[in-house]
Amino acid sequence: MRTVDGLPDWFCVAFAHLAPDDFATVSALWKSEPALRTVALLIDTLHPSRHRHTRCPCCGHVGARWHSSYSDAMRNRCEACGKSFTNTVGTPFFRVHERNWPALYGTLVVLWGPWTPVQAWRIAGCTDAKQLADFRRRLAPLFEQLPDDTLLASRAAYRLGFTPNQQGVLCLRCGGRDIVYRKRGNHANPTFACLNCRYQFQLHASRRHMLPLDESVRCPDCSGRALNRSFIDTCGRQHYRCRDCKRNFVTQPRKRHPSQGGGLGVQ
Ligand SMILES: [Zn+2]
Ligand SMILES: [Zn+2]
Ligand SMILES: [Zn+2]
Repeated sequence: MRTVDGLPDWFCVAFAHLAPDDFATVSALWKSEPALRTVALLIDTLHPSRHRHTRCPCCGHVGARWHSSYSDAMRNRCEACGKSFTNTVGTPFFRVHERNWPALYGTLVVLWGPWTPVQAWRIAGCTDAKQLADFRRRLAPLFEQLPDDTLLASRAAYRLGFTPNQQGVLCLRCGGRDIVYRKRGNHANPTFACLNCRYQFQLHASRRHMLPLDESVRCPDCSGRALNRSFIDTCGRQHYRCRDCKRNFVTQPRKRHPSQGGGLGVQ
């Protein structure tokens, strides 16, 4: 069993099955995501070994003495309505077998991770993708307990459990909130797409070193400056496209060879 400083007790149990590089990824998530640690504390307060109902979940009776049954220390009986119930009623642990409790914590951590649902259930320690989906549903109410201004993620990235908008991303063109992930190959800098205006963008421009365009470059037709670099051809010339008039052009056109056409060549 690994023991690592700065990690909670359940962490090494929940992720004991991971290879060292995956374990390093989940530990980094734990250290870099404050909202993850906050929600984990909320789960800790609901853990069956600690959680006690202050009122009866059936009748709301308060202040009575709970009778624990003899067989199961976690079972209680309300003396007002006579119903018996466990500590886990109304918590994410309700009817989850004790051996799966670490996977419930594991599911919480992978919500911040870069995995797809197909990969994530193994990382989380679940038995299959269905169990991961079930645990995600159980954890959802915890997020509603967070204050409205809570930042869910330390920085916007592709994350399994959160939409771009939940991470604070708005469309760079129209300000819309309906943003989806378009490409997640580079999960730290995914391509987002706006469902409202179809604009696709990254938050960290990967070709920023080519900008701004040289002042002298203008569209030969409309003299516009709304230009895109399209590609560099085999002669090393930069091709541009004008967004206003759709003209494609190069800045240094190839010199017309004297032997080609023109009518003025040697006879
Ligand atoms: Zn009751
Ligand atoms: Zn948009
Ligand atoms: Zn133009």
